[in-house]
Amino acid sequence: MIRIEPGAWQVMVGHGRACYPKECCGIMLGTVNGDSRTVTLAIACKNAYEGEQRDRFQLDPRDQLAADRKARELGVSVLGFFHSHPDEDSYFSATDLKNSWPWYSNVVMSIRGGEFNVARSFIANDDQTAATPEELTY
Ligand SMILES: [Zn+2]
Repeated sequence: MIRIEPGAWQVMVGHGRACYPKECCGIMLGTVNGDSRTVTLAIACKNAYEGEQRDRFQLDPRDQLAADRKARELGVSVLGFFHSHPDEDSYFSATDLKNSWPWYSNVVMSIRGGEFNVARSFIANDDQTAATPEELTY
């Protein structure tokens, strides 16, 4: 299960609303304790997808490197990624699955009419053929 601390949550929802009606994306840092993950810091990133961003996002590798560095600096881990679905439900799409990595948490926020609706988290299996919902609190 994954818990998102209020400060990190505000960054994520704020980014989702600001990017609407395009998809936003970002990286979550925090701590792992057995099966329990706590997001202490969320980094809002630029959607680097070159094309229609209404239903697509791509992280810039430079942002990923910067997040890795930041995690080391703070002594925490990169726990996963977040993105928004403008005017769509919170689900893990085939594209999301294809672009994901095992182990990491993937939080998908549904943003409807520019306002936050609901969020869910998913973890892809090792061969990226399916994603398992993960209990999420925010
Ligand atoms: Zn998606």
